[in-house]
This record gives sequence, C-alpha cells and structure tokens, in this order.
Amino acid sequence: MAKKNPNDDKMERLVSLCKRRGFIYPSSEIYGGLNSCWDYGPLGAELKRNIKTFWWEAMTARRDDIEGLDAAILMHPQVWVTSGHVAEFHDPLVDCRSCKARFRADDVAGKKNCPNCGNATLTEARQFNLMFKTFMGPVEDNSAVVYLRPETAQGIYVNFLNVKNSSRQKIPFGIAQIGKAFRNEITPGNFIFRTREFEQMEM
Ligand SMILES: [Zn+2]
Repeated sequence: MAKKNPNDDKMERLVSLCKRRGFIYPSSEIYGGLNSCWDYGPLGAELKRNIKTFWWEAMTARRDDIEGLDAAILMHPQVWVTSGHVAEFHDPLVDCRSCKARFRADDVAGKKNCPNCGNATLTEARQFNLMFKTFMGPVEDNSAVVYLRPETAQGIYVNFLNVKNSSRQKIPFGIAQIGKAFRNEITPGNFIFRTREFEQMEM
C-alpha cells in the first residue's frame, strides 16, 4: 500500500467544504456519485456565472473586433476527421490483465508491475481515443456516429465565414465562445481540476 499523500487530506477537506457551503456536490450522489462528475450548487452556480459574465463582457462587449458565438455540442463527424481528432486525439493506455485496472502509459512507464494489484501483468500500450461517441437517430451503426465535442474551438473555426459575412468584420477579428466540452479521460480526478465534462472559454 502506497504511503498516504498529506495533500489527499487537504483535497478531501476542500471537497467537503465545497459541498457544505453549496458550491459543488458530487454528481448523482444519492446513487453513489458518478466518477469525476460534479454539480454546482447555489453558490457555485453563481460564482461560475459571474466568471462567465465577466469574461463575456471583456471579450465581446468591450471590444469591437471580437464577436460572440454559441455553437452546438454535436457537430458533423467530418469536423473531427478534418481537425485530426479522430486520428490523433488519444492517450496511450496500459491495462492490467490481472485486476483490469487501466493506466495512462506515461504513469506506468518503466514499471513492470501493476500499481494497483502488484502483479507483473501489464499489457503493451494501446491508443485510446478521448472523444465521447454516441449515435444520432435511432440506428446505432457507424454511419450514425457523432461525438460530444472535445473542445469548443472547432465550432468557432467552422463558423468563421458565417460570422465574417454576417458581422461585417474585417480580418483580423476574434470569435469568442463559452460552452461544454467532453473528454473521456482515462484517469480523471483531482476534484474539478480534471473532469470528463467541463466548460471552456475560448477566443
Ligand atoms: Zn493489476
């Protein structure tokens, strides 16, 4: 058993404090929670909204050369092929054949034994795409695959010409967007610092 990191206690206290004060609760807590998903309580929702409002004002209202955008989370799958995410957006991972635990390859680099069960049963590294996949429409086949966006920026890129034409901006100009993004991280954790569902502010 690894020695306990004193920072673990600090993090537990922080998580507990955030819950008591109504900032952040574990998602679906009455069913045991959902790994790395968090809900923002009354104060947390206000804090987050204040930050987003401040950023949005600074970006779009106080600048003449930046336009706002609110693109859909679901996008044409070709977006993610063209951007390189289908081919390149992955982490190498290593499985333990014994206890089935899964690790990022760089976390177990050079180790022969599984950090979880201690057996020398680690596989070679395999590539694991980080995009969440789902199906659009009633038929679950390859032609219906869509992804939950892993970043908001692509919505900005594919709307560049629409925004340029409709806003009469001249190059160079900016496009700002706030929205949810999703990454199927192999080892999420550390409270809200590494989650699978999160909000981005991109310009
Ligand atoms: Zn193991």
